[in-house]
Amino acid sequence: MAKAPKLRLLKPALKPLGPQLKPATDRRYSSPDYKRWYKTAKWQRLRQVILVRDNYTCRMCGRVLGARGEAHIDHIQAHRGDAALFWAEENLQVLCVPCHLSVKQREEKRDKCHRIAREEGWLE
Ligand SMILES: [Zn+2]
Repeated sequence: MAKAPKLRLLKPALKPLGPQLKPATDRRYSSPDYKRWYKTAKWQRLRQVILVRDNYTCRMCGRVLGARGEAHIDHIQAHRGDAALFWAEENLQVLCVPCHLSVKQREEKRDKCHRIAREEGWLE
């Protein structure tokens, strides 16, 4: 029964911080759909198709890519989450990792941002 009410006055002072944390309404970059596409069986199949079509050979430098993880599948035209571009066989090519990086770095300079790296799933 006694002095407890005094403490209650302190509580409201903390409240205003809560609403400042906005909910993530813009999910375009936080969890884009195409990141899931890379994990689908459909993508694994398509990847195989492109590897065989290009003979496991980097289209830029001609290196044959035998080892696992050596061959990257590159979207020639950045898909930017566009399903049609993402799944189009004619928009895909085999690149080795160094060539893929150099292509993407050039594109990044042109676009002057890291959007592509994020779209390719290289950045979390
Ligand atoms: Zn290469």
